[in-house]
Amino acid sequence: MLEENKNISDNVDMARKHIIALVDCDSFFVSCEQAANPELKGKPVCVMSARGQCVISRSKEAKRLGIRMGMPYFQIEGQMKKAIFINANHELYSQMSQKVMSVLKTFSPKVEIYSIDEAFIDLTGLERLYHRNYLEIAKMIREEIQIKADIPVSIGLSSSKTLAKLASDKAKNLDEGVYLIGSRKIIPVLEKTSIDEIWGIGKNLSAMFRKNGILTAYELVSQDDLWINKQIGIHGLEMKHELLGEMVSPVSDEVKLPKSIQKTSALAKFTSDKNYLKNSLNYHIHRACVKLRKINAKCKGVSIFLRTKDFKVFCEKKVLNKSTDFELEISDIVFELLDKVYNSNILYRSTGVILDNFVFNNEAQMSLFTDIESDDKKEKLSKCFDKLEEKFGKDIIQTGFIKKDV
Ligand SMILES: [Mg+2]
Repeated sequence: MLEENKNISDNVDMARKHIIALVDCDSFFVSCEQAANPELKGKPVCVMSARGQCVISRSKEAKRLGIRMGMPYFQIEGQMKKAIFINANHELYSQMSQKVMSVLKTFSPKVEIYSIDEAFIDLTGLERLYHRNYLEIAKMIREEIQIKADIPVSIGLSSSKTLAKLASDKAKNLDEGVYLIGSRKIIPVLEKTSIDEIWGIGKNLSAMFRKNGILTAYELVSQDDLWINKQIGIHGLEMKHELLGEMVSPVSDEVKLPKSIQKTSALAKFTSDKNYLKNSLNYHIHRACVKLRKINAKCKGVSIFLRTKDFKVFCEKKVLNKSTDFELEISDIVFELLDKVYNSNILYRSTGVILDNFVFNNEAQMSLFTDIESDDKKEKLSKCFDKLEEKFGKDIIQTGFIKKDV
């Protein structure tokens, strides 16, 4: 009862501020498989990366068997073998993700899709609309997602994104799946939060903090602004204020371009055969370009990398004068880069293509010498590729080389 009263007073406090929720799908890939095939519910289930190399998502039951995230298949032994292993089906996951996100959009227009299984949603003002407090609204959202998409989610609520993210981590361990960090709870929560649990603090930053004797989030917010600014700049100051419950980064419903699209895979055998490498690179180019066209963008940066049998990595990058999403053009560049890094005396184990430096199609600048007619043709050809794929399935078309064993 006491806890409930506190929540109510927290809710009153929050009414004066923004209230942001982070909705995070639980064991997302496994949950999608279970939604598609309910017989899998309540069983130890693992989703494996492409080609079944390692575990990328686990059900609760699989976790209990001792299966760890990222575990390679060859290490699965004893009890763990009881689990059901399923190859990843990313098309299913992106469809399910869209379902979840569209439920969120029925509650508030301010939804920021953060990743395939996470979104921020600005709930400010909904209390009055629903005549319920924010925790009850979060529970409603959770139920609605369960009904419409059959996906379990955890929801963290607070007055900034950074705190909402912390709250969602706490929600994961609760049966009700929702947790609110109101004004009164902020300091006690920060005292118990270690520095590396904070969103945006990676290994390097956390090592730097530790070196300076800062071990908890509370110790971080106790540092003065000057020191933080000197050590990590404006980003650190923003983090401090977000941790104290002040919203610095609002929920933005703008569609953001990803930083990069990366396609990589291991080769079916160690090889020095250049054509074999080209074949594999072409496959990556194709997958990357399909994705690029899906997000309506063009890229200016093209990189490749080759990993050798001894795990050495060789990479090469080219920045183009004019952005493109055209496969034949990208494949010319990739082969040019391949010529630079390739050594016929080396055995290779994997290849990869990275596209970055994106611009939206409608912002892609035309250069003075742009051949509009030829651009138009490329665009038509690319669209034709995508339509054929939609109709006849993934990878029906490849440029240049024939896909085999990649
Ligand atoms: Mg998740």
